Amino acid sequence: MAKKVIMDPARSLREFRLLTGKTDSGNVISKVSLKTRLCRLPGRKSENRFLELNIPLVSAAMQAVSGSELAIALAQHGGISVIPSSLPIEKQARMITDIKKFKAGFQEDVITLSKTDKISKIIGFMKETGYTSYFITDDGSSHGKLIGIITENDFDPHSHASDAIEEHMQKKVNFAYEGITLKEANRLMVKYGRGTLPIVDRKGKLKYVVFKKDVKKHIDFPESVVDSKKRYLAAAAVSTQPKDRERIDMLIKMGVDVIFIDASDGYSEFQADTLKYIRSKSKKVPVVGGNVITKDGFKFLAEAGFDAIKVGMGIGSGCTTQEQKGTGRGQATALISICSARDAYYKKTGKYLPVIADGGLSGPSQMVVALAIGADALMLGSFFAQFTESAGPLRTHPKLGPLKEYWMEASPKAKNMGRYDSNDLVWFEEGIEGFVSHTGSIYVYLRQTLLKIKAALSSSGCKDIDALHKNSVLELQSEASIAMGKVHDIISA
Ligand code: IMP
Repeated sequence: MAKKVIMDPARSLREFRLLTGKTDSGNVISKVSLKTRLCRLPGRKSENRFLELNIPLVSAAMQAVSGSELAIALAQHGGISVIPSSLPIEKQARMITDIKKFKAGFQEDVITLSKTDKISKIIGFMKETGYTSYFITDDGSSHGKLIGIITENDFDPHSHASDAIEEHMQKKVNFAYEGITLKEANRLMVKYGRGTLPIVDRKGKLKYVVFKKDVKKHIDFPESVVDSKKRYLAAAAVSTQPKDRERIDMLIKMGVDVIFIDASDGYSEFQADTLKYIRSKSKKVPVVGGNVITKDGFKFLAEAGFDAIKVGMGIGSGCTTQEQKGTGRGQATALISICSARDAYYKKTGKYLPVIADGGLSGPSQMVVALAIGADALMLGSFFAQFTESAGPLRTHPKLGPLKEYWMEASPKAKNMGRYDSNDLVWFEEGIEGFVSHTGSIYVYLRQTLLKIKAALSSSGCKDIDALHKNSVLELQSEASIAMGKVHDIISA
């Protein structure tokens, strides 16, 4: 006989609804803040210091989801992406570099030419890229000394194709020095009546180019999350396998902001060993442990010294763990259990440990329930996969229209042994390969989800996530209540 058989069924997030609280002028939607704690900051003098996000969203450590493009876009909105550990070390490192080097609106890799190149070369680039302005440097390289600019208005493609660029380029170029802000660059472009502005260093070498069309996109991100050097925040995953020690060393050296230990079952001594190794290399980099689904699992990771705990097993959109192994738990029950253990741990020790709900959060209604139960942040895979900026390729289906490829980390395509503690010889899949609908750009569509979350907080009478944790009331719904909450008795047009 099992040590214990629990007869109360585990509950899913989809079975709960938030009751309303009083909305007043202090918690109307425009006043609601989604700022949250992602994890503790270890190695600091004061006990409760946290790495904060401006929105409680984290993109999953999955090949199909978190690459540098999504990571930059999400950091601009106030969240963070976790670059997966199933990528080769060099690829993961390149992505972290791309995030850390990215200067919003300042493009580093622009096409440059030398004055002796022929106009025909520019005509070729124009056909290929559609760009109309090109910068000329002394040696033709992208960081050479800036000596001119040539635009489509400076030559006639029919009669000048075989001429050298220097015969037609403009030698007087309006430029700015490195260190200028995007706002100031925009002001100068307006002043000079130009759509581009080259930025040079004190020796006149080209460093970046600012394009007017990019400015609008990048200037409006007051919620961006950045490190002490004003670079976007970047997180990365590692497995507990000894071969990943090299990955850990590399990530610490690169200055990654948070390390996530990525394991489907995090209640294991290998998590504690990996944490010990990371601490021996850096006392300051925060480490997230998980995933766990029980109080005991939480207690084990809390006592091991993790800086946040990730919760969820067997509930990811394409996950087959429950069917394959019979392990897992309804996410609402897992979160209720762990958040109450977290609150008791805080009372006893004075240490607050953020909880990250991971998996099965396909829309705002599940997100707000997870936050109300006590999660501080939410990790999402399929939700982020739908955006143009996710790492999975875009496909067009003849009947279903545009789709994004989405494959789970234990699918044959990803075959992420590290996460599932298996090896090349004995392996079974715990996730499928598939697609999600392509919604469009995160720059257009994420704000709608954020607005819905804010609207839910406001309706519950809460001005922020802390208030939601303390004051919200959740109720388990009957099947009939859930059915009545969907469209009924009407045929939609
Ligand atoms: P989603 O947001 O419902 O799509 O779930 C994403 C989460 O599923 C990830 O953050 C992982 O915790 C989990 N996951 C990723 N790959 C697999 C898999 O192959 N099997 C089981 N769970 C997975």
